[in-house]
Amino acid sequence: MKILLVEDESRMAEALSELLRLEDYEVTVCEDGISGLGAILDVEYDIIILDVMLPGMSGFEITKRARRRGIKTPILMLTAKTELDDKVMGLDSGADDYLAKPFETRELLARLRALVRRNDVPVAEVLNFGDMELNVTTCNLTCTTNGQSVRLSEKEFRILEYFILNQKMVLTREQLALRIWGYDYESEYNNVEVYLTFTRKKILFIGAAVEIKALRGIGYELRSINV
Ligand code: CA
Repeated sequence: MKILLVEDESRMAEALSELLRLEDYEVTVCEDGISGLGAILDVEYDIIILDVMLPGMSGFEITKRARRRGIKTPILMLTAKTELDDKVMGLDSGADDYLAKPFETRELLARLRALVRRNDVPVAEVLNFGDMELNVTTCNLTCTTNGQSVRLSEKEFRILEYFILNQKMVLTREQLALRIWGYDYESEYNNVEVYLTFTRKKILFIGAAVEIKALRGIGYELRSINV
């Protein structure tokens, strides 16, 4: 698994690449934006980790240019600040995920694994979780044990797809809102609960042994129910 790490703070770059190598990733480090973009265009990586503030060219700009050149490699953006603007700009520019500094190393590793999994799933296929099957073309949700099926609305589909692609991870309300409504989500922020309820009802309707569990004060997790 090849990772490109573009990070200008050498101590951070060293610590991160050491950590990633211990996890058996093959790591290349670039310390400025220009050489980072150059590496992205030259070599095919499995994941790209981009710092936002870089000499030469920002992480946002690199992402935009790489996407414009048809590079589809998953990009994890490291934002120095926790402001939402940074996160939104990161996703808006074509990044797949963001992580605010300072972060826990296990959080970074979890995000990387999620990105790899997400990349492994080709578009226009079926996603599975427990005894539930989600068809990404028709938006049909089917229980594989009883064959019961229901059509999801677009937002319900995006919620469930996001949960399945990030299974075993707790998703915050903010992450869900950002994923569902994107840039202009603030007015819709409170509707996350509403759409979660709709989605739960569909899961109940098909009789799948799956639940979207609310973890008070933390977020939500997709779980299989032991029956
Ligand atoms: Ca930096």
